[in-house]
Amino acid sequence: MLLEIENISKKYDDTVVLHDISFCLKPGVYGLLGSNGSGKTTLFRIICGVLKQSAGTVKYNHDDIQTNPDAFRSVLGFLPQDFSYYPNFTGMKFMLYIAALKGINKNFAKKRCVELLKLVGLDDVKNKKIKKYSGGMKQRLGIAQAMINDPEILILDEPTVGLDPKERVRFRNLISSFSENKIVILSTHIVSDVEYIADEILVLNQGKLENRGVSSELVSTIQGYVWEVIVEPVKLDEMLAKYIISNQKHGEKGIVLRIISKEKPTDNARHVQPTLEDLYLYYFRGEAEQ
Ligand code: ADP
Repeated sequence: MLLEIENISKKYDDTVVLHDISFCLKPGVYGLLGSNGSGKTTLFRIICGVLKQSAGTVKYNHDDIQTNPDAFRSVLGFLPQDFSYYPNFTGMKFMLYIAALKGINKNFAKKRCVELLKLVGLDDVKNKKIKKYSGGMKQRLGIAQAMINDPEILILDEPTVGLDPKERVRFRNLISSFSENKIVILSTHIVSDVEYIADEILVLNQGKLENRGVSSELVSTIQGYVWEVIVEPVKLDEMLAKYIISNQKHGEKGIVLRIISKEKPTDNARHVQPTLEDLYLYYFRGEAEQ
């Protein structure tokens, strides 16, 4: 299994939203990390064949996916960001409906839907209407529908939006249990989602693939740029205006700031070990996390 993204660009009129993106994916879990508007959804829609690129090719097992789109769709599972549920359907009815849309044999579909609903922990609510489901339950149903054709490639666009921390942990465990011998790509702007679950992280920044690697490799690129500084409260505004601050807390001797800067910010600054969260702020310059 090999998914190749070759020189993909996307333009809307004169605005370029994806700039010459290239990468190859083998089975594994990949996190596409980027702030809002960085082009994650656009890239996913192109990979899924629902949006046409301005240039470049998507290949699966060396074949252009546009040559035989039906064959590609049969190995693809997709959870779009704006996934719409039918609130008056039960979970089971919804799954059977998706199975019918995908042309799955009726008898097999029933067995598969029951199996999948069990796998995502919705077995006991499968006959309840979706409008009664929590956000986490709906999201798990979204993942179950994306898995209906036992896909080789699973693409999940912002799958953790709206989930509480407990549901997020559950989601991560679910993905780990699914991911064996599959290419799973999930997008997020929440660092901790990819930090624990993804084998590799791809950082998309303003439509460009900024970096790619395992978390520790990416973090090592800002080794030496993260500092801890103690400042007097009167200096706080000045520091906030001047530096990328990844954390601030009150200490005994003043305010303790975690600063990301190539240069030593103050004489009393001391180096601290960078984290993926620091890296995110370094790339995205303090844009809001959620
Ligand atoms: P993300 O998923 O990372 O939030 P998107 O792929 O949704 O980013 O959007 C990337 C950029 O493309 C944004 O600046 C967005 O405004 C722009 N964009 C998306 N769809 C369209 C469209 N149909 N026409 C013009 N610009 C668009």
